[in-house]
Amino acid sequence: MNPADILAGAAVPDSPKLYVIGSFDKRITFYSQQARALSLVHALHDQGHLKDCKRVAVIGAGAAGVTAAAALLLATSAKVVLFDSAPNMLSLQGATERRKLDPHIYDWPKIDTTDRAANLPLLDWESGSSKQVRMDVIKQFEQIVACRPELEKKLGCKVTKIERDDKVYKVAFTRIGSAANPVPEDDNPGYFDMVFLAIGFGVEPKQAIRGVRSASYWSDAGVPGPEFDGRPSPSFFISGNGDGGLIDFVAAASSDFNHGTMLSLITENLRMEAVRSALQDIDKRAREVEPGQPPLDLWAAYETEIHPLIRDNGLVHQFRMQMRPGVRLVLQTREKQIFSLDTAVLNRLAVYVSVKACQEIGAHIFKHIHCGEVTSTISDDDGYLLNCDGIGEIAADEVIVRRGPNRDAVREPFQNVLNAYGEAHARWLARYKNMTVVPGLSQDARSFFEKLCRDAGVPPSPRIQNAAIRARRFKMTRDGTNIHWTGAVAKTDLAQIWSTSNYYELVLADGAESLGKMAPLVLRIAGHCKNLTVYSDRVFWDGLIKSVIDKGPAKGLNKPLFGEGLPAGATEEPHDFPLEALAEELHHHLDRWVLTKVDNYISKFLADGTEEGTDIALTIAQDLREMMAVTWKNWTALFDADPALLGNFLCLMMNSNHAEHPAARVLVGPSSTSEIILGVVVSLAIASCWNSVGPKAALPGNLHRKFDAEPEWAGHTFAATRINGKHTLRNVAEGMWRTEFVVLAVDGALDSERASNLSFRDNSSDELTFSVPLGHEPVMLTLSGQFCEAMELGAAALTKFLAGVDARRFIRWDNVIDKRTAA
Ligand SMILES: Cc1cc2nc3c(=O)[nH]c(=O)nc-3n(C[C@H](O)[C@H](O)[C@H](O)COP(=O)(O)OP(=O)(O)OC[C@H]3O[C@@H](n4cnc5c(N)ncnc54)[C@H](O)[C@@H]3O)c2cc1C
Repeated sequence: MNPADILAGAAVPDSPKLYVIGSFDKRITFYSQQARALSLVHALHDQGHLKDCKRVAVIGAGAAGVTAAAALLLATSAKVVLFDSAPNMLSLQGATERRKLDPHIYDWPKIDTTDRAANLPLLDWESGSSKQVRMDVIKQFEQIVACRPELEKKLGCKVTKIERDDKVYKVAFTRIGSAANPVPEDDNPGYFDMVFLAIGFGVEPKQAIRGVRSASYWSDAGVPGPEFDGRPSPSFFISGNGDGGLIDFVAAASSDFNHGTMLSLITENLRMEAVRSALQDIDKRAREVEPGQPPLDLWAAYETEIHPLIRDNGLVHQFRMQMRPGVRLVLQTREKQIFSLDTAVLNRLAVYVSVKACQEIGAHIFKHIHCGEVTSTISDDDGYLLNCDGIGEIAADEVIVRRGPNRDAVREPFQNVLNAYGEAHARWLARYKNMTVVPGLSQDARSFFEKLCRDAGVPPSPRIQNAAIRARRFKMTRDGTNIHWTGAVAKTDLAQIWSTSNYYELVLADGAESLGKMAPLVLRIAGHCKNLTVYSDRVFWDGLIKSVIDKGPAKGLNKPLFGEGLPAGATEEPHDFPLEALAEELHHHLDRWVLTKVDNYISKFLADGTEEGTDIALTIAQDLREMMAVTWKNWTALFDADPALLGNFLCLMMNSNHAEHPAARVLVGPSSTSEIILGVVVSLAIASCWNSVGPKAALPGNLHRKFDAEPEWAGHTFAATRINGKHTLRNVAEGMWRTEFVVLAVDGALDSERASNLSFRDNSSDELTFSVPLGHEPVMLTLSGQFCEAMELGAAALTKFLAGVDARRFIRWDNVIDKRTAA
């Protein structure tokens, strides 16, 4: 939605500069109201409506009003007056530790909804008890007020009327403040040129069922507690199937309800993929039912499609372990259907699993009734007898009434403007449909407020400050042909994990198979560092680890460090990237990281012959080093221009005949940088004194040697000291090389002459079984004594040595011909 659409959804018809925040919307949460408020203030700024604003009234200091007031303080220089009939800001959330606020969980099982962080540019928070969230938000609100003091709080003031008076609004209020909250009367009514109605939805009536006093949802007493007086079969009557009713149904069913634990039983469960997609599919079908057609029976769909899945994945069993012993539950709804589409899928699922757990344990009873009226005929210390219209009497020890707040009461003072708004808003909702269900914050709005906060000197939120000292968590999730990438590490920063000692956590809901080409990349990044924990189901990685690390090309590489479970969060900064292209791009980032390390080390060595470590440990004459420096400059320019060239060069540095193995690149990283450095130095020395040797992009090999008259040679410069766990020199006779020359950056007894005759000697029986065409067995160059001596003496000596290698190869080729003739 663009800013004009957002304004259209909030503006009251025929009442210029009067806006409503969310009070007529569905799926209201603390977070969504904040997002609505920020989007609205940003849209007003964007459309130029805040320019001449001098005095703004914000009526209601709940999540919507407090956020709107903070945003207005930052975005305008207007005086902002914040009214609330309650004596405190965010009054609803102030009374309970037992209700948990989660910013995004309402939209589970959509992707990225388990993030604990609201991730808002101001008044940010992360999931916690209702009281804690309130405290965090108020603290930040006061920090903004300290930077932008143009705020007046009128707490304990109930607005009784707003009227348009020429070009301004007259806002009348009655004071219900206490002595602790004195309110000046002299500005009543107040005059404002812009007004926000952030009045929320009201509170639940005290006796929604006559004769039953049900504690408020927002109080600790409203949450069913554990058994303490030994009732063998406690009975609960829960009235209402909105989100409050569903949550308290689960609380009543549980022996010791903890909202957070209940949520994580579902959302952090590793075996929920099938359940998630089945739930999404059911909701999609339910939403697609045409108006006038009977609605999809959600309960019936759960029975056929969800029950087998949650029974098989152990979720019902887990809930069984938590059931209140002997509990009997009655859920009363006004509608025939148990579940309504307007509620959170997570709450529906939790109720459904609780019922299935109930049914599995014989002693537990669940009953659904639908009826309009319920009255209490008897209520005494022993409980209630409830008369349910058309059904008869039902006894219950406890009655929990969650029939929603009294909206009419809260709207009553504003009827003069809200009637018109209600109708206009219903049309707006119908027009934008699903876009209005989950309001998000546009990147423009986010950047706008981030800048305002920075400019005003507002300190970062406690969440951001805490995050700075915690492990940085990021997530990759397969989504069709894409990878959905989220969290605190951008793809361009992936290689930084290798550079720092900070801790990182990578969350992967998918196993190696479904991640395809991304899976070896995970092994590559994790195998080269100890500060990354991978959260995924290890079982789905065992095969790849076996084939790549235990028995494959990366023998000896560290296995990823796996953490327990699938932690929530890391859903900020969402991006979707095509899987294969992403894997390629990330390998290239990692290759660049290695190249930079190699370049820093080698450049210093070539300049002055010294090194910080002992990776090279060779003495090379200055004239040769100068020639090598020129060669290196040319090579790095080629690497900069061609990622595939660099990728192939480094990959073959660590892989003998595994270049086409899908996981061949995993060996290239910090653990192999020392070997690669030596390999590059040896290759550079040879390239500087042998004609036209340079890096090569395509197999076979990673070097070429060009000649004027002959076809070019492919070469393989190889730096790993081990191949499949065996010392490199023990592998050279195995016919694994596919190129005309091989440079092995390993010390050893094998000198160039022996190496160049090796395959010939090994095949000195009368049967010549070369694995390469006759006369094309590779010229092998290793760090032999002669080679090292030549480098020490300088360019002329090395050139002479290499010319000798060429000459001997020519003689050897003649020998082959002779043998063949003799045979
Ligand atoms: C039973 C129930 C359960 C819920 N559970 C959750 C949950 O688990 N998580 C969640 O995120 N959300 C939940 N919600 C939604 C919750 O209402 C919002 O999260 C949040 O409180 C909405 O903020 P708000 O600012 O729009 O409204 P409110 O928080 O209601 O704030 C509106 C404010 O306006 C004031 N006001 C109203 N009229 C006047 C007037 N005439 N003059 C002066 N002041 C006035 C009120 O005193 C109030 O402080 C639940 C709601 C209900 C009813």
